[in-house]
Amino acid sequence: MSITKDGYKLIYLDASAFKESACLERLRYVIDEGLRAKETSSALVYGTAVHKFIAELRHTGGYSKAIQEIINYYLPFSLDIKEKDFRTALHLASTCKGYYEKVYKGDYFLPIKKNGIAQIEQKFAFPATDIFPQFRDKLESMKLVIILSGTVDEIGVIENDCITIKDIKTTTQWNIAEYLETYWLSTQMLFYILIVEHLLGIKNVGAMIDTIILSGTKPTEFYRSEVMYYSEQKRASFKRQLEDTIDGIINNVETSPGLWQQNFTVCDCAKFQSEKAGQCSYFKLCKSEDEEIKASYKKAYFNTINYNPLEFDQHKI
Ligand code: SF4
Repeated sequence: MSITKDGYKLIYLDASAFKESACLERLRYVIDEGLRAKETSSALVYGTAVHKFIAELRHTGGYSKAIQEIINYYLPFSLDIKEKDFRTALHLASTCKGYYEKVYKGDYFLPIKKNGIAQIEQKFAFPATDIFPQFRDKLESMKLVIILSGTVDEIGVIENDCITIKDIKTTTQWNIAEYLETYWLSTQMLFYILIVEHLLGIKNVGAMIDTIILSGTKPTEFYRSEVMYYSEQKRASFKRQLEDTIDGIINNVETSPGLWQQNFTVCDCAKFQSEKAGQCSYFKLCKSEDEEIKASYKKAYFNTINYNPLEFDQHKI
């Protein structure tokens, strides 16, 4: 949380933070305390580099310049990656070339333009009260501003003139059908659709995914999903969920600053997520009652950085 000169508290809520909202305390660690794991994963920076390459390509159409910029960006990081990690600068260059040849050339997806600028890596940030005016008086009385924010990879049209958002994913998951099916119930897609429909004042925006499938032993493959259209019922249900979360943030900031509502069922669910080694990332903070131990654990494993999704592509390398 940051505080403006005139005393307003700003909380940014984006699709990635929203994923943590099943436990409001977990959400607080992210959006209020700004805790971020110290270790920067190569998968994350590699993915950011691919996004930057595609954005540069879409804006300028110049392959050589885009590839040069991206290698310059990635090279300092790639020197530090672990020996067995396949995500080298050379691998990145090969992936970008493949995307240019196999996806970009002859693409039927056309980014829409606003004031002559293609809607690529489109950042947005506006008060949640623009969509949920029912919270206006309460938030004003608390001098609290909740900002819906994030970056939509691409907004464009496809052959039937339907407006579609496109998200670009890099993954090592080769079961592509199973991987893409999960996006039919994705908070990220539903979040972006709600935002884009609000900003453009239109309905029935679709979503599609360009998946870039990575491997250390096989050449990178590219797969575009079908366009997903979410039913009115699903969109309304998601909107209610977002509304409940905003309500929860407001209530907890007001009544329980420093410890928002914990949801212990979510601690249990983390046991089944192998990538988190069976524990929520904040488990040791919640478990301990000793403030000194908590402080030293935070210092050892997290950086504290004001949570602002508009600055997420600026990884410190
Ligand atoms: S350990 Fe459990 S209670 Fe604590 S933040 Fe994680 S999910 Fe929430």
